Amino acid sequence: MKDKTKINLDKVKELKNKHTGLENKYKLVSELMDSIPDVIYFKDTQGRLIMVNQAHAKGLGLKPEGVVGKTDFDIFPKERAEKMAKDDMYVITTGKPMIDKIERATRADGIDNYVSTTKIPRYDNKGRVIGLIGITRDITHRIQFEHLREEKALISKKLEVLEELNKMKSEFVSVVSHEMRTPLAIIKDIIMLLIDGIVGPIKEKQKELLMKAKDNIARLNHIIEELLDISRIESGKIKMHYSLINLNDLLMDSSAFFKKLAEEKGIDLGYNLPRSQINIFIDAERINQVIANLINNAIKFTEQNGKINVEVKIFETKVRVGIIDTGIGITKQDLPKIFNKFVQLSTRSQAERKGIGLGLSIAKELVEKNGGEIWVESELGVGSKFYFTLHRFYTDKVLSKDIRDEINNLLEKNIPVYLINLLVINYTEFKKRLNIEPRELFEDLRAVIEETFKRFCYAGRKELQIILQDYKEGELGILFSKAKEEESAKFCNLVKDRIKKYFTKNRLENVFINLGVLSYPSKFHAIITQQILANVSIKKICIGSEIRRFPRIPYRIDIEVLIPENKVESCRTVDISEGGVCFENGCRLKTDAQIQTKLKFPKEKEPVSIRARVAWIKNINIEELPKGSAKYRLGLEFINLKNRDKKIISKFIKSISHQNSINS
Ligand code: ADP
Repeated sequence: MKDKTKINLDKVKELKNKHTGLENKYKLVSELMDSIPDVIYFKDTQGRLIMVNQAHAKGLGLKPEGVVGKTDFDIFPKERAEKMAKDDMYVITTGKPMIDKIERATRADGIDNYVSTTKIPRYDNKGRVIGLIGITRDITHRIQFEHLREEKALISKKLEVLEELNKMKSEFVSVVSHEMRTPLAIIKDIIMLLIDGIVGPIKEKQKELLMKAKDNIARLNHIIEELLDISRIESGKIKMHYSLINLNDLLMDSSAFFKKLAEEKGIDLGYNLPRSQINIFIDAERINQVIANLINNAIKFTEQNGKINVEVKIFETKVRVGIIDTGIGITKQDLPKIFNKFVQLSTRSQAERKGIGLGLSIAKELVEKNGGEIWVESELGVGSKFYFTLHRFYTDKVLSKDIRDEINNLLEKNIPVYLINLLVINYTEFKKRLNIEPRELFEDLRAVIEETFKRFCYAGRKELQIILQDYKEGELGILFSKAKEEESAKFCNLVKDRIKKYFTKNRLENVFINLGVLSYPSKFHAIITQQILANVSIKKICIGSEIRRFPRIPYRIDIEVLIPENKVESCRTVDISEGGVCFENGCRLKTDAQIQTKLKFPKEKEPVSIRARVAWIKNINIEELPKGSAKYRLGLEFINLKNRDKKIISKFIKSISHQNSINS
């Protein structure tokens, strides 16, 4: 058998013989020169080109033979040739190379570029310089990239400075606004003393003027509050205090006030609310502020005999609040900027506007901070429809009276309190799936929590105490005191993990566990509907099966939407459920508009025609998107579904949910 190394050595030898003869060496070098994109040339001491590669000749629009014998003065403009000759002279007279000289140049086709040139002297046998080898490389892309990098660094630096300035501006606005509050409050008190006649009787005319002053102080106060809000939002200092609220109660609380305000202007303000409770998990005060701003605007921009309707619509996972007026409306051009800061439109005089154009931008921030979206539809001279959505939160009850009393007792003694509220959502359905008695389950869960609590206390906080445990149908409340905010959050997460483990161990599947934080507002801002005078934090752990009638599955299928004027828009869905679809598109449809759609389900031969209603619209941040892409995300709710179509959708959803569960 032949030795393997021997074979390899023979091969190397054979290759060497084949390629290293003088002729072959020349061939290899010449091939290298001609295949390389860099310009390579040899010059004699007089600057005459004695050999050039293909790239050089091609750049000049000549054959290599046509270039030989020429100098740079024959090829390039005088100024450039002089510069090149100077470099040549340096290399030839000093015998030193010139390496990577970067300069701007103009190619033979007139295009400006950047080149890097290296010139190396050539010597004869006696060590005398006989010319040079030059290599010139087009480095335009590299330089452009470097410029871009420099520009990026510069922009980042500028951005940092702007951010710093913006921060300073926010701080300045915040400090000035704060400082203005106190003197204004004093002026208001003084005016009230005068109006009430406490410092002596005043005439009717004087009272009238003082009332005007009082109104303007209220206006100024409102502006200060808006400036403070915007600086809090900009500096990220705005804090949300979420609580579980019945939206109907929230709207009704202020309805009498707004009805009276509208009536004074001869406007009919009506409320169209659903009968059922709408539990939402929001910062009630802040959402109240949004509602107040939208209703105030509607009143401000609606003429006498106009109408305003405040409506609430419940969707699968969202609720939608609409404030619809028959007022002056907004022009098409103004609509896209309406939620920007300091925007006031030209339709009204400054005196009539009485604001600084911050209300809607604050409303947008607040709605988004509460997990919702806000948008407007309007027609000049016809009216405006402002809509915003909020997430629904499923629970039947607010806190029971016993727990509320206990909390208030503790708070009267100034003891900080935390409450963990464990709640089974969709209890009736959940009970059916249990293989043990619900009471037993809750005993177990109570044990899980107690045990977690004990461990937590051993870990350092011995003085923590469980004060109260309260069990009712599907709900377990545990009250403990003296804990710090971070501690209670940590504890809640621990409890959540342990409960999850408990369900896995007991083979109870599809259990939905959610942890919400209910941080109640201070004593002075207690929410009337919940009757709690407490500065208490409440953690709510929700377990059970989520009541989503139709779970949404992220899935892309083709959809055609027939938009007004009989135009057809083709796009793809973002998600799909048995109740509707969500998709992104460039054209704005109207909320509640009924439209025809065609959905192309992969396994169906023909697209399925379905009627749908626009349930919600969300603006997509256009700055983040390339030009011409979708501007809106829309939620469609299927209506009048035929049985046949229902079956197709249901079959499709089942197949993709199966796929999804396999993938995950
Ligand atoms: P301001 O407090 O100055 O009213 P907003 O941000 O609340 O500021 O509103 C900005 C502008 O949007 C208003 O000046 C007005 O031109 C327009 N606008 C807001 N609501 C309506 C509405 N319901 N009808 C017509 N125009 C409106």
